[in-house]
Amino acid sequence: MCDIGRRATLRELVAGTEGNFSARLDSDRILCTPTFRPKGVLRPDELCVIDEAGAVIEGLSRPSSEIRLHLAIYRACADIGAVVHTHPPYATAYAIVGESPPTGVLQEADIFFPTIPVVDYETTGTDALGAAVARFAAETNAVLLSNHGAVSWGPDLETAYALTEMLEAFCRATHLARQIGSPQSIPPEKRPELDALGQRIRASWKRNR
Ligand SMILES: [Zn+2]
Repeated sequence: MCDIGRRATLRELVAGTEGNFSARLDSDRILCTPTFRPKGVLRPDELCVIDEAGAVIEGLSRPSSEIRLHLAIYRACADIGAVVHTHPPYATAYAIVGESPPTGVLQEADIFFPTIPVVDYETTGTDALGAAVARFAAETNAVLLSNHGAVSWGPDLETAYALTEMLEAFCRATHLARQIGSPQSIPPEKRPELDALGQRIRASWKRNR
């Protein structure tokens, strides 16, 4: 988790104390990042372990107030083993204008993300934000938060984090493509092949419980 904090900072997916990550340790313990600590210099002794209600059961730090968002996602879908919340610039730019990046124009994006919805605006740290995101927990792997940032989830922390890196790369590529010209769609006759590949990969991400 500390290593992912460094990688996310180096890739500019978070700045300073932005962002928070969590990962299920077992059925009722969740490891998470502490509040107001720069993610680039996190130490293992600063992480905390919480229960499913959000109470700290190990560690001296307090979790981020955005942990409510994570807990809502875990409650919504038992297959989810980790949640990554960041403020990546290109994905956040889409979130600011309230627009999903285009689908059907980049293979990897369609494989990894069935949809990338923009979740209605809610204040950070509230249960309302958690409820707004949890609606999408079973249907996709990432959402954009209006006027805020991005969240991705997966069976484990590496996968959830990789999805955020790929989401940001996708948002950047589509932004650049639109500056060069009009994005071309993937040929419709090739869609079934691609959709089957996506379903196979995403099915392999179900957490082993
Ligand atoms: Zn945030």
